[in-house]
Amino acid sequence: QEATGAGGREERILVSVRLRPLNDKEINKFDVCDWECSNDTTIIYKNYNLSASDRSLYPASYTFDRVFRPDCPTRQVYETAAREVALSVLKGINASIFAYGQTSSGKTYTMSGVTEYAMADIFNQIDMEKEEREFVLKFSAMEIYNESVRDLLTADATPLRVFDDPERGTVVEKLTEATLRDWNHFKELLSFCEAQRKIGETSLNEASSRSHQILKLNFIDLAGSERASQTNAAGARLKEGSHINRSLLTLGTCIRKLSKGGKGGHIPFRDSKLTRILQSSLGGNARTAIICTMSPARSHAEQTRNTLLFASCAR
Ligand code: ADP
Ligand code: MG
Repeated sequence: QEATGAGGREERILVSVRLRPLNDKEINKFDVCDWECSNDTTIIYKNYNLSASDRSLYPASYTFDRVFRPDCPTRQVYETAAREVALSVLKGINASIFAYGQTSSGKTYTMSGVTEYAMADIFNQIDMEKEEREFVLKFSAMEIYNESVRDLLTADATPLRVFDDPERGTVVEKLTEATLRDWNHFKELLSFCEAQRKIGETSLNEASSRSHQILKLNFIDLAGSERASQTNAAGARLKEGSHINRSLLTLGTCIRKLSKGGKGGHIPFRDSKLTRILQSSLGGNARTAIICTMSPARSHAEQTRNTLLFASCAR
């Protein structure tokens, strides 16, 4: 099943899972840790008190490209699960790195570290190659909330129009693009965005002036995956303010189909803002890393299982 041969691995979506430690809130509620990484690629579910019917819903072990233990630092997560994908933009390949998981599982924690390490690597690489090549790094950041797109580089919260340009593909109208001067400038812009941001989405653009080709490296901190669960939204556990997130649902469908190498038929990129904006970075000449984040707590087992099922389908 594993793709072999030259380049075989590169075409797949790289899927890893990061297990975070139990947090204080979970510990104070006497929650217990039910998940364990048994090796570098396998996560096991070790709640032995399950009824026979529940046991059939929870396979005892799940295998991915890579799994990370609760004590694993973000630097190592980055190096193993995202570095190669991030640096592929310097070779002319569009790339996206996603964090997927339920609210509080560690998406923002993981993506903020990954974004910094990736940008540090990119700045270093550019520094080494600047004699032979000229680079222009452009930074933009947006938030997609309820299918409405907002620029995070301005204080203006007016939704931006998304339209199709015959030459450039899907374009977010009037999205601010800042040309990065250096690392400090990047950090400055990033903290401005973080301040602007409520819930959502960051993305980063990189353009090479040498080839006049716009390349994109996207860092995507997704909405909580519980918002992709229809049963939750329709069922008894409907929480206030929790609703199906169209972008997240569509992303799931697109990724599942892309992971089948496009053999899954029509890929519905156009069904949501997120997938329209990312279309050129997901399909075709593109690389994708998905880091699924999970709480180890028993109380979150059902959402965690949904996350692991998503991760399994994406491989
Ligand atoms: P999400 O963005 O998925 O809602 P956060 O990234 O905000 O979740 O994480 C929730 C809390 O857990 C934060 O306080 C964060 O610092 C902590 N946390 C998340 N992942 C880890 C980790 N791997 N190690 C230590 N603390 C973590
Ligand atoms: Mg978050």
